[in-house]
Amino acid sequence: MKVKELASYCLNCKTKPCAKGCPLENNIPDVINFVKQGKYVEAYNELSKTTIMPSICGRICPHSKQCEGKCVRGIKGESVQIGKIDSYIGDFALENNIKYEKKDTYNKYSVAIIGSGPSGLTAAAFLAREGINVTIYEKESHLGGLLVHGIPEFRLDKDIVRNVIQNILDLGVKIENKSIVPNINQYDAVLLSTGANEPIKLNIEGEDLEYVYQANTLLQEGNHPKYDDKTVVIIGGGNVAMDAARTIKRLNAKEVIILYRRSENEMPAEKNEIIEAKNEGIKFIFNTKPLKIYNNNIECIRTESDENRNLKDILNSNYSINADYIVSAIGSKIDKKFINEFDLELNEKGYVKVDENNMTSKNGIFACGDLIGTKATVAFACRSGRDSAENIVRFLNN
Ligand SMILES: Cc1cc2nc3c(=O)[nH]c(=O)nc-3n(C[C@H](O)[C@H](O)[C@H](O)COP(=O)(O)OP(=O)(O)OC[C@H]3O[C@@H](n4cnc5c(N)ncnc54)[C@H](O)[C@@H]3O)c2cc1C
Ligand code: SF4
Repeated sequence: MKVKELASYCLNCKTKPCAKGCPLENNIPDVINFVKQGKYVEAYNELSKTTIMPSICGRICPHSKQCEGKCVRGIKGESVQIGKIDSYIGDFALENNIKYEKKDTYNKYSVAIIGSGPSGLTAAAFLAREGINVTIYEKESHLGGLLVHGIPEFRLDKDIVRNVIQNILDLGVKIENKSIVPNINQYDAVLLSTGANEPIKLNIEGEDLEYVYQANTLLQEGNHPKYDDKTVVIIGGGNVAMDAARTIKRLNAKEVIILYRRSENEMPAEKNEIIEAKNEGIKFIFNTKPLKIYNNNIECIRTESDENRNLKDILNSNYSINADYIVSAIGSKIDKKFINEFDLELNEKGYVKVDENNMTSKNGIFACGDLIGTKATVAFACRSGRDSAENIVRFLNN
């Protein structure tokens, strides 16, 4: 369907429920209104007030839980396809080389951003647009964080990511690759945006055996074992488990099984990711918890949840599943070793503690994104990056 047809389905609600459902609070009704009139540049300019990643978010946001989930059209039928409209407008701007406007106001402040995932990149763009000198420090040889080395290519075209990043660099943002801890005293403010990518351990016997892998590491480094004719069991129920399973299936594994300790309805993964995984032949085993890994087997126990979602093991329901490879995908946490170098306080969940201005326990050091425990989605990371940029500008001008 053409983008104007998608837009014409929108009712242009005065109360903007879709915008309230968007973590970035994009002004969706006004954007769609421009699209209806074929005014794509104006639509892009409106989107650019709140986001630099419509091409990316339009493709990989969990829309049904965010903007589209709040769309009034969805009450009696299908929601407006906001994600498709956003990505069309973002792509239009990339294809037509539409650049961000930049204030050449003062240029007297310098800010270091450590980590170039969506939160750091968004902050960089919003700061640079204000005329602030920005240097990004990134430990990998590429920019983009999980947009590049997490979300697989079959869900997010990396050329688009590279083009989005180039637009940000064109604002004059400088890059220091592989410089891990800069001399922060040379900057007026520092923003930490290093994500939360340390795998959480299963804490069961056998998890360090050579045929047990971490999903984050496999997806990030891409150095998979040979899966031909092999059975691979993925432990976990989130989007990372789905991405690992779907990637491994594409790498020719004979059988890929997702093992999840709760029921299908309780899975944190996006519904359409689960449907896609099933369509691709991935099998699911629900209400099963791993207890031990031994001799290419996983000893498991069946589980059930009560009405309060408390999970309990079903006595004497132990059984074993055979697997050539086992991949753990039960979540990730921050790199405390790196954060300790800054001597910052953490919150009760183990993320970097920030106040309402995104400032950490140290004056002038800010933090954003997964590092502070935003909801582990790109849009929430971007929002946190944008808020940090606004707070840093206020801090510098005070
Ligand atoms: C497999 C997978 C699939 C996902 N799918 C989706 C999805 O479909 N939709 C969605 O909305 N979200 C998805 N997410 C979540 C989303 O990618 C993250 O929430 C988001 O990328 C967090 O952004 P961030 O900027 O906080 O951190 P990251 O993207 O993790 O970026 C952190 C950056 O900091 C760098 N860094 C780390 N330590 C240092 C250091 N010491 N010095 C310098 N640089 C450093 C890293 O190399 C990286 O570039 C997915 C995540 C994964 C793992
Ligand atoms: S809620 Fe749906 S119909 Fe209403 S303005 Fe937003 S996208 Fe359009």
